[in-house]
Amino acid sequence: MEEPEYVKLVKETEIYKNCKNIVIGRGDLNADIMFVGEAPGRNEDEQGLPFVGAAGKNLNKLLMQVDLNLDEIYITNILKCRPPENRNPLPEEIKAHSHWLIQQIKEIKPKVICSLGNYATKFFIAEGNVENMKTVEGITQIHGKPRILNFQGLKIKLIPLFHPAAIIYNRSLLGLWEKDMEIVKLEIKN
Ligand code: URA
Repeated sequence: MEEPEYVKLVKETEIYKNCKNIVIGRGDLNADIMFVGEAPGRNEDEQGLPFVGAAGKNLNKLLMQVDLNLDEIYITNILKCRPPENRNPLPEEIKAHSHWLIQQIKEIKPKVICSLGNYATKFFIAEGNVENMKTVEGITQIHGKPRILNFQGLKIKLIPLFHPAAIIYNRSLLGLWEKDMEIVKLEIKN
């Protein structure tokens, strides 16, 4: 069977050539909640799974605190391959890799998408337009606030959350994360 176009686009990028594994996603394909991070790190690249390193371990703990677990959500990243030394994604990488993310959103049809951290949040708020990411609001202003976006022809409900790695270093974000997750849980009931 021929590979879908969104896979071909990823394989044409330089970061694909330098990575060990494509990191597609994990979790429940029927989930109401989809978490979207930035890009795989070293551990994720080794194992071919998202959020298995320190940030992922913290995410597990954070989910347990709000009576959820990784099997009840779906989790993925904007980039499907690890950028060297975990540098920020390049505009052309985002353009090439986000077609796969859009395909995942179409298949899973989550009720809510939670962007994890500043980068993923700006990506959605800028509606995938990398050039506009610099000028949109960041996570500190808009975490926990649901908004409806018209994202590449899809109507999605976005709730930005702090990145689990940020909460490891700044424990004062924990209370805010818990409050934000209560909002996520309310939104999936609607
Ligand atoms: N950080 C991310 O944004 N994604 C991962 O998969 C791991 C760490």
